[in-house]
Amino acid sequence: MSVNQQAHAGPPYGQPQPGYQGYQQPAYGGQSLPGAPQSQYGAYNGPMPGYQQPVPPQGSLRAPPTSGAPPPASGASHPSGHVAYSQFEHGDVQNGIPASAAPMQRPPASQPFLPGSAPTPVSQMSTFQQYGPPQASVQQLRNHMAGMTIGSTAASAPPPAGLGYASVPPVSGNFSATGSGLYTPSSASQGPPLTSVSQGLPLAQPPFPGQTIPTQRLPTQVPGFTPPPPSTGVGPSSYPPTTGAPRPPAMPGPPLPGQTVAGPPSSQPNHVSSPPPPSTMAGLHPGPPMSGLHGPPPPTHPPQPGYQMQQNGSFGQMRGPQPNYGGAYPGAPNYGSPPGPPPPPKRLDPDSIPSPIQVIEDDRNNRGSEPFVTGVRGQVPPLVTTNFMVKDQGNASPRYIRCTSYNIPCTSDMAKQSQVPLAAVIKPLATLPPEETLPYLVDHGESGPVRCNRCKAYMCPFMQFIEGGRRFQCCFCSCVTEVPPHYFQHLDHTGKRVDFYDRPELSLGSYEFLATVDYCKNNKFPSPPAFIFMIDVSYNAVKSGLVRLICEELKSLLDYLPREGNMEESAIRVGFVTYNKVLHFYNVKSSLAQPQMMVVSDVADMFVPLLDGFLVNVNESRTVIASLLDQIPEMFADTRETETVFAPVIQAGLEALKAAECAGKLFIFHTSLPIAEAPGKLKNRDDRKLINTDKEKTLFQPQTSFYSNLAKDCVAQGCCVDLFLFPNQYLDVATLGVVPYQTGGSIYKYAYFQLETDQYRFLNDLRRDVQKEVGFDAVMRVRTSTGIRATDFFGAFYMSNTTDVEMAGLDCDKTITVEFKHDDKLSEDSGALLQCALLYTSCAGQRRLRIHNLSLNCCTQLADLYRNCETDTLINYLAKYAYRGVLSSPVKTVRDALINQCAQILACYRKNCASPSSAGQLILPECMKLLPVYLNCVLKSDVLQPGPEVTTDDRAYIRQLVTSMDVAETNVFFYPRLLPLTKADVDSDSLPAAIRNSEERLSKGDIYLLENGLNIFVWVGVNVQQGLIQNLFGVSSFSQISNALSTLPVLENPFSKKVRSIVDMLQGQRSRYMKLIIVKQEDKLEMLFKHFLVEDKSLSGGASYVDFLCHMHKEIRQLLS
Ligand SMILES: [Zn+2]
Repeated sequence: MSVNQQAHAGPPYGQPQPGYQGYQQPAYGGQSLPGAPQSQYGAYNGPMPGYQQPVPPQGSLRAPPTSGAPPPASGASHPSGHVAYSQFEHGDVQNGIPASAAPMQRPPASQPFLPGSAPTPVSQMSTFQQYGPPQASVQQLRNHMAGMTIGSTAASAPPPAGLGYASVPPVSGNFSATGSGLYTPSSASQGPPLTSVSQGLPLAQPPFPGQTIPTQRLPTQVPGFTPPPPSTGVGPSSYPPTTGAPRPPAMPGPPLPGQTVAGPPSSQPNHVSSPPPPSTMAGLHPGPPMSGLHGPPPPTHPPQPGYQMQQNGSFGQMRGPQPNYGGAYPGAPNYGSPPGPPPPPKRLDPDSIPSPIQVIEDDRNNRGSEPFVTGVRGQVPPLVTTNFMVKDQGNASPRYIRCTSYNIPCTSDMAKQSQVPLAAVIKPLATLPPEETLPYLVDHGESGPVRCNRCKAYMCPFMQFIEGGRRFQCCFCSCVTEVPPHYFQHLDHTGKRVDFYDRPELSLGSYEFLATVDYCKNNKFPSPPAFIFMIDVSYNAVKSGLVRLICEELKSLLDYLPREGNMEESAIRVGFVTYNKVLHFYNVKSSLAQPQMMVVSDVADMFVPLLDGFLVNVNESRTVIASLLDQIPEMFADTRETETVFAPVIQAGLEALKAAECAGKLFIFHTSLPIAEAPGKLKNRDDRKLINTDKEKTLFQPQTSFYSNLAKDCVAQGCCVDLFLFPNQYLDVATLGVVPYQTGGSIYKYAYFQLETDQYRFLNDLRRDVQKEVGFDAVMRVRTSTGIRATDFFGAFYMSNTTDVEMAGLDCDKTITVEFKHDDKLSEDSGALLQCALLYTSCAGQRRLRIHNLSLNCCTQLADLYRNCETDTLINYLAKYAYRGVLSSPVKTVRDALINQCAQILACYRKNCASPSSAGQLILPECMKLLPVYLNCVLKSDVLQPGPEVTTDDRAYIRQLVTSMDVAETNVFFYPRLLPLTKADVDSDSLPAAIRNSEERLSKGDIYLLENGLNIFVWVGVNVQQGLIQNLFGVSSFSQISNALSTLPVLENPFSKKVRSIVDMLQGQRSRYMKLIIVKQEDKLEMLFKHFLVEDKSLSGGASYVDFLCHMHKEIRQLLS
């Protein structure tokens, strides 16, 4: 169709276009590798010659490109006015100047709808309807176009059966155990050999005598243990259920409360009723039992180097298998053990192995009281679980950047030897607590931010001013650059500029620069962004009450669009689309008495049938918008349409933003697999039989490349997509999620959405999503000092070259994990520097650069590396790495690789850093003593080892979610927080002390809360006092507690208030509103809850912490021998 084709017929991005010769080439062109697709952005790090013409710029080459020609070597003008620079001799792509650069110019983002150049769609292409009571003036403009019928003719017709008509699911608790019996872990009776551990061990010597290290970072020695002999070894492959075991089919059944993570739990006879089979103990030198089964636990965190598990002939408590659990490895194949009941096991005492709770508590106690001052290079920040204040004194706050290690090996060989990944988890627009200062906005005037001539790094505290302040030497590439006259300042006797403390870019780790027009697309300052709300009005969406809910909410929510600083109203314009098999656009121009609808039924070639009146200012069009939102639920109340399209919806939003020449965000509310005839049409290809086969990866891959291409177009326009899904069955999250994922957007999923129980959560998510800080049209580049460079990136974004991370939108919750590799030697003297520069458009349309700098130490001793690691960040990286791996490798391969890498990390420490000790001891570096327990949580997560109740969509959803998580989120996601509510002090603001995630820590007489960032469970023991039940639930007995509650009743007593305040506090800490699930002990839902008791064996075959630690020890020993 004409409009669309017009747009598509436009010249490719990066090429000039007739009619735009007058625009200067945008100067933020990026680096492009030969053969790589051209960056939409090109480098924003300063003008570069086009890749096609790698010729040094000739200074004044700013002539407009001629139509159709490849981009000329223009745009070479440096934003700060420098033209001649020597980057062309520099071959280092990352740190040096790019040898080649993509063309910087971007065509006008959208085709202006000029008379003649664009059709007037309304008259040609769409059904134009004036509606609103009376809806008489329907104007049928094209006969072949299906107009929207707004009559009541359909009212009495029953909805056709078929897809999209899944019956309203029963409420939670009513489901039957459909899957029961189908999922049978293989014999659990051959658990792995168990080991015991001693308590009260001799303290080992500090491995690094003479080194001064902060107490809480001291490697600690921990009781060691002897690993099982290899012959009975349980390899990683034995954790998952064997491939041959057929999985139960996806449960068609009823919904359940815990939808975000899991489908309906199936009852698992093996889980509950198997008598605990005894396991063999191997490799132990059983000594006398330790003093008393109930003796005090040993100190779990002695202040010694190395966490060492010793085998000294005595061992701790003998524990039976965990209650209700089968052998140590449900699902584990037999590994050469004889059949028949082995002798009763002796367990490694869980109290003697590293405790996450203890580590978290110790860090809180040691580091929670003092502010973290960022003035010192290579400082390890407090843990993400510690509340602390940050004072920026020259390095970025850990709220913006966290690293796997703050001390980087000097050489690549050393890094390889340790196998410790060098990565930074970056959250460029992170929200700060109110008491911390937001980054200052710095304006360097017309010439733009002062930058290194060669590598384009931005002025920062590590630049060295020389020659009395007339030049500065770059801390990243050593190039010397003239200080622009307007920026000149004298130096004091220490060589510091006298205005050091007056300039954020000289004294702080994080700040912003105002970008000049050179940093803008097409060398035009951007327009304020737009939000387009696109609502599925097919049968399911209407029937569930969702459409009405959304419309009601938007009426008030539109008053809370993001606004800049103290601006009175938001600059963001809004637009509205509804859709099923066709799309309905709405004219909400302020001058109209009633909104007008235009229907586009030709979804094969999407276009926007109106320009004027589609995107409007909320205040100006308030009454028309309100009228529209009142009418939408009525208009579609009797719809019979069950089919939906999806890609055309995104295309429509994209075209609208193009037409308006702005960036923006689409909020799409969608219910079903898009099976209607249209581009991007999908088929149901869910197949659980693929699990544990080589084809399992296809479940995570999109079923068509259509959406990747669409995402690319969206990124080019700065069109970010946030997707709210309300599925009653499979809708292929792996495919529908491609565009949100690659545009930097978010996905929210509310399976079996029910108004009563889910609306509060959905509305909270929607409110937060609409209001949160977001940058548009963003490009991020991480520069590093010579010796290392960013080589790999994880997160929700698009990359068209190897260095620039592009995001149509980047909000305050999104994280990008960046991996670094050596390309040269580093020196201990100079350390290593990172500079993350994010170019983005603010919600008011201002183009800005946010800069974060971080300086790290470099080391020649492996011990220094291990002493300055951060395990939480390491896990964040490893999880993202693994979750990407499942796209291309069998899941088992991914799991094995993770185990192997971590075993190598720990073996290297053992071999090179730990004090001599017997081979039977497991010695863990203090900073990594939680690596095994956390790694095990990643290994048995739903993506890598799904239980039978986890749907394909759940896995795809979690996979994408985790990829954008920050360190705090991955920490609680993989190792949930478990709080004994009945131990809470109702008179204080504090939380009760957390306990470890194991069933044996739960008491029948208590109530617990477990949160993982997506769900909050409230678990009630069968013996809880009646008074407590009355106070919390308002009912008189355990049996009367309803597990259909989605919120706790508001009761006027201290316990109720305290628990609700804890829940509110936790909700406030997370980026998504967590689903509240009430679990009664011994109730069916308890299966779901137990899934999150991650120190225990999992139903899906995941090892318990104790067993996994034994396994890791064995792996390490094998590496050492
Ligand atoms: Zn430089």
